[in-house]
Amino acid sequence: MASENTGTGHGGTRPARVLISGASVAGPALAYWLHRYGFHVTVVERAPALRPGGQAIDVRGPALDVAARMGVLDEIRDHATDLRGMSVLDESGTEVFRSTEVTASGGRLDRGDVEILRDDLSQILVRAGGPGIEYLFDDSIAALDDGPDEIRVRFASGRERAFDLVVGADGVHSHTRRLAFGPDSGRLRPMTGHLGVWTAPNVLDLDRWQILYRLQHGPAWGGLVMSVRKNAEMRVYVGVDGEDPFDPALRDPEAQKRMIAARYADVGWEMPRLLNYMWDAPDFHCDVGLQVHLDSWSRGRVVLLGDAGYCGSPASGQGTSMAMVGAHVLAGQLKAAGGDHRAAFAAYERELRPWVTANQALAERHIAQGPPDQGVSSEGDWYDDAPGPDGRTFYEVVDDFTVRAY
Ligand SMILES: Cc1cc2nc3c(=O)[nH]c(=O)nc-3n(C[C@H](O)[C@H](O)[C@H](O)COP(=O)(O)OP(=O)(O)OC[C@H]3O[C@@H](n4cnc5c(N)ncnc54)[C@H](O)[C@@H]3O)c2cc1C
Repeated sequence: MASENTGTGHGGTRPARVLISGASVAGPALAYWLHRYGFHVTVVERAPALRPGGQAIDVRGPALDVAARMGVLDEIRDHATDLRGMSVLDESGTEVFRSTEVTASGGRLDRGDVEILRDDLSQILVRAGGPGIEYLFDDSIAALDDGPDEIRVRFASGRERAFDLVVGADGVHSHTRRLAFGPDSGRLRPMTGHLGVWTAPNVLDLDRWQILYRLQHGPAWGGLVMSVRKNAEMRVYVGVDGEDPFDPALRDPEAQKRMIAARYADVGWEMPRLLNYMWDAPDFHCDVGLQVHLDSWSRGRVVLLGDAGYCGSPASGQGTSMAMVGAHVLAGQLKAAGGDHRAAFAAYERELRPWVTANQALAERHIAQGPPDQGVSSEGDWYDDAPGPDGRTFYEVVDDFTVRAY
């Protein structure tokens, strides 16, 4: 049972009302903690239900600690991709590298980190929050009116409500960010080209295995395929370089599919068969690999969390861990500040920003390093074990955050 929190700008007579935009990873994780601390929490999600799809994402280092404190670590482990290893194939489909120590998507297999499908994690986090959290699906914030005592919200559905705080956890293209901070120009940094992801049946009979089919030239860099959900399905990822990262036409899923199909028209191995499943996949998702950089993560009564505030791009491998740790810190600081949201937002940023900055920098390191067959030294060491430009290894950066109690 959540204890009542009487903070944040309402004379201490009722629980503070927090609206969170976005129900993927950051939003439900924050909702869990705020509800537990006695806040009144509403989550608005644009999609009609929790969204399916997305690649396998990683819960690492301090994010495992947060998951344990939420009581969901065992459930997360039960849903892990649990891969045994990977193969890299060249253009002709010949295996040129094989490892049972690392995968391209999950990194080292011996660390106890969890690789899990984004949609599975999202469902676990929502369930953990329990029935006391209000979820509004198929709606979104249309306008914000930030006043001295509360923030008034008009939703796309037309309803209007007042809250004490609004949290943008609505991803790299956050609408909340644009409403509160103004246009995005200069804040989004392209890191990789377009990445498309969808589900297919396990027609390759992969047994907890990942295959990276690597092309050396041209805009299509190949495909990454892995068996998931106890080998019942595969997730297929493809990448396309060279398109305009900010082309609004390429935000439309049907246009994205046509672009991928055109770029992969002459690609060999099993790719034609895997591409056939793209057209009708209910969970097709495609986006450019972007980072978000802001001087400040809050404006008035609005604060940003996860990809909305500090997306690291898929190349960082740390987007989900940053979202889960960020949710724990933001909720904790709101609790600790006893109603002073300005103090809470400043403390959230002070505590989290150094770790976030170091994790965002990992994306450049991964891009320079290349896939696992490139990222192994002549001694056979995985490059993530080698110090980067700041003298620290990938995992030293990942683990360099202590989750504290508030
Ligand atoms: C369908 C999907 C597929 C993804 N696939 C990958 C992938 O393949 N590789 C990868 O590295 N990362 C992927 N991501 C991003 C990854 O989930 C995040 O990097 C990370 O987990 C941090 O999560 P987040 O909650 O901050 O943001 P996200 O996971 O991006 O979640 C944002 C949520 O906000 C919702 N939303 C967006 N706009 C609005 C709005 N205006 N109003 C209300 N709700 C809104 C979205 O529907 C989504 O549920 C994907 C995200 C989604 C939603």
